[in-house]
Amino acid sequence: MDLGLTPDEMALQARAREFSLNVARPRAAAIDREEQYPWDIVKALTEAGFCGMTIPKALGGQGRSFLDAVLVIEEMAKCCTVTARIVVETNMGAISTVMAYGSEAQKQLAARLVLAGDKPAICITEPDAGSDTTAMATRADRRGDVYVINGKKHWITGAGVSKLHLIFARVFDERGQELGIGGFLAVRDERKGLRVTRREQTMGLRGMPEGELTFENLEVPADMAVLPPSGFRRGFADLMNAYNSQRVGAGTVAMGIAAGALELALDWVKTREQFGRKIGEFQGLQWMLADMQTQLTAARLMLYAAARSRDPGGGAFPDPMLAAQAKIFASESAIRIVNDALQLFGARGYSRDLPLERMARDVRMFTIGGGTAQVLRTLVASKMLGWKLPQTRDGYLPKPSMRDAAE
Ligand code: FAD
Repeated sequence: MDLGLTPDEMALQARAREFSLNVARPRAAAIDREEQYPWDIVKALTEAGFCGMTIPKALGGQGRSFLDAVLVIEEMAKCCTVTARIVVETNMGAISTVMAYGSEAQKQLAARLVLAGDKPAICITEPDAGSDTTAMATRADRRGDVYVINGKKHWITGAGVSKLHLIFARVFDERGQELGIGGFLAVRDERKGLRVTRREQTMGLRGMPEGELTFENLEVPADMAVLPPSGFRRGFADLMNAYNSQRVGAGTVAMGIAAGALELALDWVKTREQFGRKIGEFQGLQWMLADMQTQLTAARLMLYAAARSRDPGGGAFPDPMLAAQAKIFASESAIRIVNDALQLFGARGYSRDLPLERMARDVRMFTIGGGTAQVLRTLVASKMLGWKLPQTRDGYLPKPSMRDAAE
């Protein structure tokens, strides 16, 4: 199918496919079983130029587009989800935020680490602040030329392996006045006060550590505050907007897992025989395959469109509306597609001898991490209605102006 890719994009895709089949696939089962971050894969990805592809050329990167990253992520995810997530996080998410809003020194620091294979950690979620990010309690207090950070985050991807951390915290000036929520860059090895205090026991994606981080008087130089032009007061929304690239990346991992599962299932139904016929001859299964392919194609097109889009607000990120819709659709479809692929293998699909059960565990995450499917629906509805939809009890009742608009 012609998806409108340029020769350069197709060449990149082919190179990623080759890496995925020859380097990532042979390691995928062991990465899951041993639950170890795959430093060998990181090294190979770095040498192949897949880490930091989207970093501008002036900073040593290749200045590649989000669509380029998406094409690579999809190929990696067909064979190894952890490999795909490393590509996401070295090209989207925290690194996009720094490239959009960072000072020159911050950009150089982030580029140097990521191009050497570091997967930056983005630290937002707290035990009492999940979907409601603005409820975060971690604070950054200005003391002379440093901010002193105290608090706790959990479910932080890369805890214990990432060097660069983008930490979100409530910001207070020297007088104790709250300024808003800001992002701060800290490098783990160089800063006392940043500890991994727990590793989460995850269902899938087991080679990628998720952990709890505790900050105890972590001192961050004041010039390591990542400050959008809107300042601390409104800056959180801008910083979170940068997360739209991560959403497209996460949706692509889910879609890639589904594509990998469907490829396996298609081969299988053409060889497995029951009742004296290939099982692919049964119409019930043919229609299942057609539904799987249809959902996969739709998800892929939505993700490509989101990756190609630009925030209409003028940002350097994908359109938030397209990114949210693509992530909702791709993650939910991928769970169904992988589940159906596993079904087509019968008992074998349920066995750890084949990758289907691992794919089913891995893919389950993508309706949760990076904004749940429910919260993203609220974002989409809010944009459709043109209303802010505060979710707190006090803010829930429509304001008179909204009622007027509805009447
Ligand atoms: P809750 O917010 O407690 O939600 C519970 C349920 O209620 C969900 O189904 C949710 O959709 C629903 N819900 C909540 N509010 C509403 C509402 N207003 N309307 C409708 N439904 C609602 N965080 C980071 O900061 N950095 C990371 O690197 C990171 N990596 C992650 C990796 C993995 C594998 C996972 C699973 C999570 C990761 N997270 C990370 C955390 C993730 O962003 C949060 O889990 C997510 O935002 C949801 O928060 P929660 O788990 O506290 O769920």
